[in-house]
Amino acid sequence: MPAIALDLDRVLFDTNRYMDILRERLRLKGLSFDAVANRSAVFGRKDLTNMVRVVAEQIGKSEAEALFFTDILHLWEGGAAGVFSQIREKFEKVFVVTVGDGYQSRKISGLDIDGIFVVSNDNEKVNIASALHQKYPDLVFVDDKAEVISRMSECGIRGFQACWFLDEAHQSNALPNRLTRPEELLEL
Ligand SMILES: [Mg+2]
Repeated sequence: MPAIALDLDRVLFDTNRYMDILRERLRLKGLSFDAVANRSAVFGRKDLTNMVRVVAEQIGKSEAEALFFTDILHLWEGGAAGVFSQIREKFEKVFVVTVGDGYQSRKISGLDIDGIFVVSNDNEKVNIASALHQKYPDLVFVDDKAEVISRMSECGIRGFQACWFLDEAHQSNALPNRLTRPEELLEL
């Protein structure tokens, strides 16, 4: 049985909707999403750790974490996580490879995966995929970014672009062999 490595944002998790939800939750606290994102860049990058840190300055850490991570698992709907039990049956190993920070795992808490690799950029993502490919020659890699998939192909890895959570602008630039529905993962 083969192995699969899934990107997290916009493959397993509806990140665009998550951003809309965060924007609204912050607004209800009298905070601006854009201001929080911009200030988080002062600490380095605009990642979840730094955004939570900025919000925690205003409302405390536990309330900030609750704002970011309470009741978000419905954002699996319509994505790869929505067909996860069938993915689990089809693939011997299921990995998640994602750019971000330690908070990433909160977005997929409870999902029965064999491992999550949290990396800081797409180069590291390709390196992890290559290492997994050495161990699992039948590895399939799924990401929403065409550029990442092109680089996987250069490394001899079977890669597919997932389009179900992409907006129209990104859909129009999608690769010819893109996947438009999560169910197509079960046919690879
Ligand atoms: Mg992604």
